[in-house]
Amino acid sequence: MTTHAGQALSLEFFPPRDEAAQGRLHDTVAALRSINPAYVSVTFGAGGTTRDGTLETVRQLTDLGFDAAPHLSCIGSTRAELCNLLDQYKAQGVRRIVALRGDMPSGMGSVGGTDMLSYAHELVSLIREHSGDWFHIEVGAYPEMHPQASGPQRDLQHFVEKVNAGANSAITQYFFNADAYFDFVDRAQMMGVSIPIVPGIMPITNHTQLMRFSEMCGAEVPRWIRLRLAEMGDDKESIRSFGTDVVTEMCQTLLENQVPGLHFYTLNNAPATLAIWKGLHP
Ligand code: FAD
Repeated sequence: MTTHAGQALSLEFFPPRDEAAQGRLHDTVAALRSINPAYVSVTFGAGGTTRDGTLETVRQLTDLGFDAAPHLSCIGSTRAELCNLLDQYKAQGVRRIVALRGDMPSGMGSVGGTDMLSYAHELVSLIREHSGDWFHIEVGAYPEMHPQASGPQRDLQHFVEKVNAGANSAITQYFFNADAYFDFVDRAQMMGVSIPIVPGIMPITNHTQLMRFSEMCGAEVPRWIRLRLAEMGDDKESIRSFGTDVVTEMCQTLLENQVPGLHFYTLNNAPATLAIWKGLHP
């Protein structure tokens, strides 16, 4: 199985918190270079908590020759702060941004004020108003519905608002049921959406972490996968091997069905993403 021309692969990293993590990220990036990603992206901590780390990591990855895209979440930042960041990225030569609402970190209180934005479509509009067409804008999409949405159709309408505000493409929340993705794309296309909607891929390496993330972001871990992982307990090797098989098979199905690309949530861990990649390119 090979990816077809135009099926671009991208990789997501998070900014390291200390020097040891910085070294690990460096090794991860070196190990994943062989995948030849179309671009790499760097997350933005909830409420802007990694603003400087995101900026610095994007700079380092750009220096290493990658097309690096910062994530930018609007919640908790003023318009002026967001515009200032956009200007910094533009000055750095960054051409792609992943525009999100984000979530407030617990304990940081509520967000308000006329100078603040509430939803990602407002951020997309702000980027277009402030920076014109300089940035290629990616937005998030939720095949299994965003956990705070009042219903799948409402959530889809909100997704369409982001597209209408000027998003160029979308990356989905991860899922383990390809039908949810195909259904979402069909429904989006029926509403006139024609931008690429790239599946976000989460490698399975750690049962507890996967269940925690999935609970927070509303991604369903199918019962058969949960049961198999639970039975494996602390057997990391079995979890890795099973996880690689499950996710590789799903990626194969997605690629055969002409998805526009795959976006890997690497969690700054090269082996899991590499194993899937090798499974797709035997
Ligand atoms: P929105 O599109 O604004 O949607 C959020 C919720 O509001 C949804 O329930 C939607 O239905 C609802 N909504 C939207 N518009 C309206 C409206 N006009 N009226 C009423 N309701 C509305 N988080 C981070 O903190 N940092 C990251 O780096 C990060 N990276 C991510 C990357 C990807 C690819 C994805 C899919 C998610 C990422 N997240 C990140 C998580 C994301 O910030 C959260 O899922 C957040 O809760 C929603 O962000 P959004 O951009 O999808 O929000």
